[in-house]
Formats: sequence, C-alpha cells, structure tokens
Amino acid sequence: MMMTTLLVLTAIGCGLIAFAIAFAWRVRPAVVHDHASQRPRVVIIGGGFAGVYTARYLEKLAGDRVEIVLVSPRNHFVFHPMLPEVISGSIGIMDVVSPIRRMLPRTELHVRTVEGIDFAARTVQTSTGFHSHVHAIPFDHLVLAMGSVTDFRGLRGLPEHAFPFKDLGDALRLRNHVIRVLEEAAVEHHDPALRRRLLTFVVAGGGFSGVEVVAELNDFVRAVARHFRGIDPAELRVVLLHSQDRILPEMDSRLAEFAQRLLRKRGVEIRLDTRLAAATGQAAVLGDGTALLTQTLVSTVPSSPHPLIGALLLPRTPQGRIEVEATLAVPGMPGVWALGDCARVPAPGGGVAPPTAQHAIRQARTLAENIVATLDHRPTRPFAFRGLGKMGALGRHSAVAEVFGVRLSGFLAWFLWRTVYLMKLPGWGRRLKVAVAWTLDLILPPELVQLEAQGSTGIVREHFEPGQEVFEQGDVGDRVYVVLSGAAEVIRDGQRIAVLERGDYFGEMAVLGGAQRNATVCCTEAMDVLVLPRREFAMLSGSLPELRHSFETTAGERARSIGSR
Ligand SMILES: Cc1cc2nc3c(=O)[nH]c(=O)nc-3n(C[C@H](O)[C@H](O)[C@H](O)COP(=O)(O)OP(=O)(O)OC[C@H]3O[C@@H](n4cnc5c(N)ncnc54)[C@H](O)[C@@H]3O)c2cc1C
Repeated sequence: MMMTTLLVLTAIGCGLIAFAIAFAWRVRPAVVHDHASQRPRVVIIGGGFAGVYTARYLEKLAGDRVEIVLVSPRNHFVFHPMLPEVISGSIGIMDVVSPIRRMLPRTELHVRTVEGIDFAARTVQTSTGFHSHVHAIPFDHLVLAMGSVTDFRGLRGLPEHAFPFKDLGDALRLRNHVIRVLEEAAVEHHDPALRRRLLTFVVAGGGFSGVEVVAELNDFVRAVARHFRGIDPAELRVVLLHSQDRILPEMDSRLAEFAQRLLRKRGVEIRLDTRLAAATGQAAVLGDGTALLTQTLVSTVPSSPHPLIGALLLPRTPQGRIEVEATLAVPGMPGVWALGDCARVPAPGGGVAPPTAQHAIRQARTLAENIVATLDHRPTRPFAFRGLGKMGALGRHSAVAEVFGVRLSGFLAWFLWRTVYLMKLPGWGRRLKVAVAWTLDLILPPELVQLEAQGSTGIVREHFEPGQEVFEQGDVGDRVYVVLSGAAEVIRDGQRIAVLERGDYFGEMAVLGGAQRNATVCCTEAMDVLVLPRREFAMLSGSLPELRHSFETTAGERARSIGSR
C-alpha cells in the first residue's frame, strides 16, 4: 500500500513536469505534409508497437527529411500488456489505448485498411471504409508491421463460439459477456446443468497471454460473485487448458511451477497435456473427446501472421511470417522492410526474435536507423537486441519475472511488472491515470456495469436513390448485393452492359475473384438492397455449396459476356 502511494506521488510529480513539457510541445507548429513534395515517402502499415515506434523513431532521426505515412484501421494504439486488466476493470478502457495522432505529430495518419500492395508500381492500396474507392499511396520505403491475428480457421466451432483475446474489442466483449452470464446464473434456479455451465469459465492456452487472462478472469469473477446474492462463490469454476506439461513454457521451470501453484491456490483448475479440439455453444471439446460444459471459452491460441501477407509475393516462412535479413530488410526487395509479430527476425547469436512488444520496439529503432542510413548511402546495421527479460502477471499482487538472469516471483515481481509497464505506457497523463486507477482498485470494489456496445450486424439493408452509385469500376470488391426493390444499371467503360432488378444479385465477381470491380453499378430507380460483406458472404457460400456454385456460374457467365464485348 505504501509503495503504491509512493508510486502515485512520483507519478503526480512526473505528471506535473510532463504537463509543462506537453504545453511547450503544443505551441510548436505541426508539420504540414505536402504530397507533391520531393521528400522520400515512408509508408508504414500497422498502428501497433512495431509500426508506431518505427514512425516515432523516424520522426526523431529523420526530422522533416522524410514524409511519413502510417496506415492503421484504428486511430489508436493498444498497449497489449495491460489488456487483461480491462476484464476486471482494474484500469479503465481508455487507459490502455493512446491516440496515434498525439503520439506521432509529424506523421500523416490514414485510418484505413490496406487491401493490397503493388510492388512493381510501388503503391499501397487502401479502402476508405465509408466507400469502396481504392486509394493508392506511392512509397519510396515500405514498412510492413501488420502484426498477427488470432486464427481459429480449421478449429471446429472456435470461430463461432470462442472469444479471442487480442484487441480492446475482445477484452470488452469478454468482460461484458462474463457479467452477463453471472447475471443469468444469479437467477437460474430451475436448470442445475445450465447453472453449472454459466458458472464455468474456460481459457485455452497457457502461454503469457492465456495465464494473464485466466488470472484476471479468476480474480474478477470471485470478487464480483460476492455481490450476487444468488451465487455461491464455491460454485465458480475457472479452468485453464494447456497442451504441454507445464504452463509458461517460455519461462524458467521454477517460475512456471510457482505460477501453477499460485493459480491453483486461488481456485484455477489447471489441466495440463490437454488440447482444445473443438467448441460448441455449450462446451469446450477436449482432445480426448470429453466435453467441458461452459458458456465462456476464451482462446489465446493459435496466433498466425496477418492474412494480407499470404496474398503478397514476399519471402515467407512455412508459418506465414515474412522472412527478413538481420537489418530487417526484405531480401531482394529494395526499400521494403518488415518487423514485429508479422516478421521472422533473426535473433543475434542465432534463433528467432520472440514476438513481443519489447522486441518490436527495439526492432523499430533499428529499422528507422537503417532507413535513414539508406537515404544517406551509409551501411545498415543488424538487429542486435537480446531481450531484457520476461514478466508475467498472475493477478492480485503477484507475478513472475526473469530480468537480466535474476528470477523473481510474488509481490516483488508484481511491483516490478507494474512499475516497468507503467513507465512504458505512452504519455505521462496516461501513466498518472493508471497509477490512480490501480490505487483506487486496492480499496474500491470491482465495477459491475455491463456496457451494451452494439457491434456491426454483418448483413445489412441499404437504400440508394436514382443517380447514386453503388460502387465504381476499380473499387475494392468487398461486398455482394441482392436487389430487394428498385433497379440499377451496370456500366463498363462508359457503356451500359446490363440492368439489375428485384431478385438479382451483383458484386460477386470481384468478391469471388479477390479482384477490383470491373464495372460501375448506378441506381436508376429508388433501390433497396441487402448487403453481404465479404466475410459473411464467404461464410454463407462456404456452408452452402449449391449457393456458391450458382454465384460462380453467374460470375463466369458475366465474365464471358464482358469478354465477348
Ligand atoms: C493479451 C496480450 C498481452 C501481451 N503482453 C505482452 C507483454 O506483457 N510484454 C510484451 O513484450 N509483449 C506482450 N504481448 C505481445 C505484444 O503485444 C506483441 O508482440 C506486439 O503487439 C507486436 O507488435 P506489432 O506491431 O508487430 O503487432 P500489433 O501490435 O498486433 O499491431 C499490428 C497493427 O497492424 C494493423 N493492421 C493489421 N492489418 C492491417 C491492414 N490490412 N492495414 C492496416 N493496418 C493493419 C493492426 O490494426 C494493428 O494496429 C501481448 C500480446 C497480447 C495479445
């Protein structure tokens, strides 16, 4: 308690200094980026640790000599190491994210998704989100920092029923779901099996993120259960599944055993040598076929490189990561670089650098230095960081840490974990807020509010007025449309080639072929359509082979008809 108070006082002092610095910084004029300028342009794809820190170091090292463009689907940077704490609410949702614009005042941010890269033309194609027009950004240097994704493909039932844990949205969804099932269980007195299912929480994956998630989840449900008169804490079951014979395989075995003992003491049931094979809406199905009844299954594995990488002609490992040289340059592709979780970076002394934020930040520095060296015609240098250590939080005032070869566990490791990550958070204001939140968390009961965040519903209806374009020739093929009423015409190279009416569908050619739109569709009579985004279309056509066949047949006929014109 005294230590935390000291930490808060230090943070307040530092916060005041930071306030003064921030004020002085604000009066400096922002650099206006001139697209017509002759400065070399560095385009960075990805707003995570690797991308944001590359831009940060480039701003420092290259100043106004380069134009920096960063493309990220979101305008914020997520501080992953503290994400598990969002489950328990021990820190606020807004405290694990930082606005990229404020972190990178000299970088031009495009809040868009990269759809493709044309290495020959040296351009990156982005889609705008509000419309499917392709936007091409030319580059002199390209930095690939797309990270990894949780990939449940091939795992039966996981895409439908398991919670991934990679992003802020995942953490929020899980927290809301956990509160929802507790609410449900509190009044479920008729069906004991359903009650047991609601009160069983399963996490698959005993690596760092799985262990941190299960520890937070366990602390949270046990702390809040006291506020539900209808739940006896003894009914709660929190299970960790791990496919190997001990959790935290990345750590020294004594620390992993400490973590196992502590979690078990706190009520987590650890099932070693147990693989998650499938999931249903009511159970986690284990490798031996046993069904573990649960309404809450979280899986932190498997993680795989970003799917965009699979569509690019780049040197790749069998697992799909981009092969890079020790300088982080992509071999045989001048001016193309890759780093972070999406790349296979050789570690100094052999092996591969682990996919951690700690390494991504150091790689970002090397990469920025190497871009500047290339511009100055100086030799580049290899990535030489060996890692400072590893730390894993175990919930309530406990952690394990291996720093500079020294092993720590329990409170001291936890205090080190909190101090290190507090100081790593971008911005003094945020550090201060988190320090205060942590202090209040020691004395106040956990927050129980369930936030109703309405997610995107996938398939939606849209309305078009006569003269309005649905999409334009050359746009990204990201949706399929079904005409519910009204009419439209299909125009290719200025000529009308077809008319679309009630019951017709269109847009399938570009979606099926992963290509750009080969014609423009323009509404001629007030029209209502059903819109199937690419993902939903893939799910539907993947499950109904006849439907897919019919779409493919129509797409083939339409392609032949266009070809014969
Ligand atoms: C729960 C959790 C806890 C963790 N704890 C720790 C820890 O304690 N210590 C540690 O060192 N590491 C930790 N890590 C690992 C660490 O977060 C990753 O190694 C790090 O985030 C990798 O950085 P990155 O930039 O390569 O990828 P990411 O941070 O994943 O960033 C990738 C970025 O690319 C963007 N992107 C993807 N596709 C596109 C596209 N098509 N167009 C444009 N942008 C795109 C994404 O939106 C994202 O912004 C943790 C990870 C998780 C999930």
